[in-house]
Amino acid sequence: MPYFDYNATTPLYPEVKETWLDTVNNNWQNPSSPYQSAARVKNLLEDCRQYLADVFQCKKEHVIFNSGATEGNNAILHHILTHSNESEKVIISAIEHPSVIETAKKLFPNRFELLPVDNNGVVKLEILEKLIKKNKICLVSVMAANNECGAIQPWQDVQSTCQKANIAYHCDASQAIGKIQCDNLFNSDFVTGSAHKFGGPKGVGFLVLGNDSCNFNSLIGGAQEMGHRSGTENLAAIKGMITALKCSLKNFDIKKENLQINLKKFIDAITKKIPGLNIIGNQNNRLPNTVMAIMPNFENIRWVLNLDKLGFQISTGSACATGKNVPSHVLAAIGYSNDEIKRSVRISGGWNNSNEDWSQLANAFEKVSENLKNSPKTTIVIP
Ligand code: PMP
Repeated sequence: MPYFDYNATTPLYPEVKETWLDTVNNNWQNPSSPYQSAARVKNLLEDCRQYLADVFQCKKEHVIFNSGATEGNNAILHHILTHSNESEKVIISAIEHPSVIETAKKLFPNRFELLPVDNNGVVKLEILEKLIKKNKICLVSVMAANNECGAIQPWQDVQSTCQKANIAYHCDASQAIGKIQCDNLFNSDFVTGSAHKFGGPKGVGFLVLGNDSCNFNSLIGGAQEMGHRSGTENLAAIKGMITALKCSLKNFDIKKENLQINLKKFIDAITKKIPGLNIIGNQNNRLPNTVMAIMPNFENIRWVLNLDKLGFQISTGSACATGKNVPSHVLAAIGYSNDEIKRSVRISGGWNNSNEDWSQLANAFEKVSENLKNSPKTTIVIP
């Protein structure tokens, strides 16, 4: 069953399953307990923290383990709320994940500026500069790469603009880690990530703090994670995440190039097979595994369900919005109409997809196109 929805979640690398099982069998003790077996677990936990610090080139004590990017994003916004005053605003890019954008709207109802994007889905830096000049800003949040259209954001520029203006910068790197080079990303004040986006378990992730953010408030009070995030650490999941990162960094350039080649061939094939199909964004500035398209006709859910019947799993956009019947805020921000958004589909591949899977997916699109033209219009009810 070829799976092409890696941006929603990924299968576990086999090595991750082994690590997870080995840890729940042999190192299940509470890392905070006062005996030798627990001290061993604590050491393993700290080895995981050191590994992330080495990969991300940051200080070990700035790496906080948590349940994933939704939690990390929420924790940062709550922290900023308690460390800012009423006259300061937050700038949030218009294409952020709902865990950023919805939380920011709720916590900062009158202190909230949306940073627009261009027609390739990339934030407009000149508007960021203007907003910073016009307002007192306490946080800028711009993700590394967008989960729906795959557009890579200019985080280096946002980071240096924020540094010059002495403003905290948060980067949600959930979709970038394991897919593209993340040089310099961890010089930001706050970076969030999620293991299940790069072959690790669900319900585990991290938050990396910058040098000046170490007075970080915990969203959940208590003692673990240096007081920054409480609750007994899930070593099996954390070790699984580290193994997943190691697997995704192994032969990184070759895997990335293969994905890019397959994605390009796939795009060439479907644009020929389905006239009128519109690819979103700039091919040279997109995640190597992701493409979003506006289909020339038929509602996106009909494409998705029909492809599913043929054994191919793709999505209409963000899994977090599927079934909610709300048009994608990302595509709306890029400037697509509601009618176009209803025809959008997202294909996001990964390491398990062979060349053959990609070419069969293009053929399946052609088949579904024929089937839909010949089938009566039916109302779709999402369970
Ligand atoms: N941010 C982005 C960009 C995402 O794609 C996702 C997952 N859809 C999240 C945050 C939420 O991550 P998690 O599932 O770890 O809560």
